[in-house]
Amino acid sequence: MMIPIIKPVMGEPEADAARRVILSGWITQGPEVAAFEREFAAFVGAPYACAVANCTAALHLALLALDVGPGDEVITVSHSYIATANAIRYCGATPVFVDIERGGYNIDPAAIESVVSNRTRAILCVHQIGMPCDLAAIVEVARRHGIPVVEDAACAIGSEILWRGEWERIGKPHGDIACFSFHPRKVMSTGDGGMITTANADWDARVRLLRQHAMSVPDTVRHKANEVIFESYPMLGYNYRMTDIQAAVGREQLKRLPDIIKTRRELADRYRALLAGTPGVELPTEPKWARSNWQSYCVRLRDGLDQRAVMQRMLDDGVSTRRGIMCSHREPAYNDAPHHPLPLSELAQERSIILPLYPQMTPAEQERVAIALAAACRP
Ligand SMILES: *Cc1c(COP(=O)(O)O)cnc(C)c1O
Repeated sequence: MMIPIIKPVMGEPEADAARRVILSGWITQGPEVAAFEREFAAFVGAPYACAVANCTAALHLALLALDVGPGDEVITVSHSYIATANAIRYCGATPVFVDIERGGYNIDPAAIESVVSNRTRAILCVHQIGMPCDLAAIVEVARRHGIPVVEDAACAIGSEILWRGEWERIGKPHGDIACFSFHPRKVMSTGDGGMITTANADWDARVRLLRQHAMSVPDTVRHKANEVIFESYPMLGYNYRMTDIQAAVGREQLKRLPDIIKTRRELADRYRALLAGTPGVELPTEPKWARSNWQSYCVRLRDGLDQRAVMQRMLDDGVSTRRGIMCSHREPAYNDAPHHPLPLSELAQERSIILPLYPQMTPAEQERVAIALAAACRP
C-alpha cells in the first residue's frame, strides 16, 4: 500500500453540509458564506473575515485593498508557491525577492531593510508550510518605514505565535491583512477556497466589493428588498466568490480543526523521535515563539545526497514525498524578474524533501516512512 503525501479529513458531516446547501435554494455566496466568515473570524481572533475563491485571489485582493498598483514594489520571498509572487504581478507591481533564514524556510527579516525603496508599497511575508515567520521582527521594520504587512497564511490555519506574551492564532492579524487557503493540500479544505482576515473595516469593505465585480448592492440584499434596486459597478472588480456549498463544508472542517492540529503536532513529535539520528537528515525545528500546524514536515538532506534519487528510492518503497518548496525566480515565468542572489532559497529547494503527514496516519505508517528514508539515504 502506497503512503500518500496527504489525505483530506472529510466524511459524512461535510457530505451532509453540501447536500443541505444544494437542496436549500441558495447555492453561492449567501448565508453559509456569511456564517463561515463569522466562525472563521472567531476561530483566529480577527475582527473581520471575507471568504473568496482561493488564496491566490485573497492575496490579489489584499494587495489591491492596500492600493498596490503598477510601478510599485512588494517585498517577498521567491521561496514559496508561485501564487505568492503571481498575486503581486496581477496588480501590475514588481515582486522584490529576498532570501530566507538559514536553517528555515521563512523570510529573513534582516534582509528586508536593504531592499526598501520609495516604491515599496507592501511586505508580503509567508508562513511557509505552516511555520510562523518572525512577524515581530518583520512588523518592526515595516512600521519603521510605514509599509503595510500582508501575511500569506495559506498553509498556516491553526498555527500560533507568541505575541506580546500571549499565544495567538495566525490570522488575528498581527500584520495588516492575512490570507488563507482551503486547497486540499492544506490542513482544512473546501475543495478550493480562501479567506482574508483584517482588523481594518475599510480594507474589509474593499475586498468584499472587489470579490464580486465591485457590485454596489449585493444580490443577498436585493433578494430581501421590498423595493426594486438597481446595482452599479463603480470600479473594476473580479469574480472571486466562494460558493455556499464550499462554505458549508468549511464550517464542518472548522469544527474538526482543533483535533486535526493536535494530531498533526503529535505526528510531528513522533517523526522527530523516529528520525533522530538518521544519518544525512536534518530535522525541522520550531522557534520558541511558534507553534506550527505542521502543514508539511520538511527535512533537509546533507550535501552529497541526491534529492531526486532519495525521493525515487522512497517511492519504490511505497512512500510518496515532495520536493522542497519551489523558487519562483527559477521558473521561466520569472526569467525577466531582476533579483539579488538567493543562495539559501535555492539550497532549500534543492536539499529538502517533504514527508507524508496526515491525521489518519498510523504509527506503523510513520515507521515505514522512517525506514524508507534511512534506506534511501544509505550510500
Ligand atoms: C497554496 C498556497 C497558495 C495558493 O493557495 P490557493 O488557495 O491554491 O490559491 C499561496 N501561497 C502559499 C504559500 C501556498 O502554499
